[in-house]
Amino acid sequence: MYCTKCGKQLPDDAAFCDACGARFAPEPSEPELQFDPPKTKAEPKQPEVSNAFRKWVKEQGLFCLIAKAVAVTVMTFYLLVAIVHMISLAVAGYPGGTIFAQFFAELLQGLSYGVIIWLLSDAVLYLQNLLKIKKQELKNK
Ligand SMILES: [Zn+2]
Repeated sequence: MYCTKCGKQLPDDAAFCDACGARFAPEPSEPELQFDPPKTKAEPKQPEVSNAFRKWVKEQGLFCLIAKAVAVTVMTFYLLVAIVHMISLAVAGYPGGTIFAQFFAELLQGLSYGVIIWLLSDAVLYLQNLLKIKKQELKNK
């Protein structure tokens, strides 16, 4: 280091200049930085999502909820079957193209079954709501 007053070269850890007597403030060894602890808990978002989900479940009613559970189960089942088939075909030494085609055919089949069941349950839900509205209208007349 060099003295800030007279410019004499001094050892780096010098507390004062031996030529002009200037004092140097000791370097802060541990800067005490006080950070606010970051609030990682995303509390406002979580209930919002679960509330939306709960509302969705309530709207579905038992029948449509079961139908949707069946739809998801069917899709999951077909996915698992497709994976098992893919592995067994690979073990049997089938060419990659065949395995790939088979896997996607089964995956698409399961997906379309699942989507059809899901849409049917939505259609039922729609009709149920429509009937409710019609009944309410008849009552009011
Ligand atoms: Zn000096």
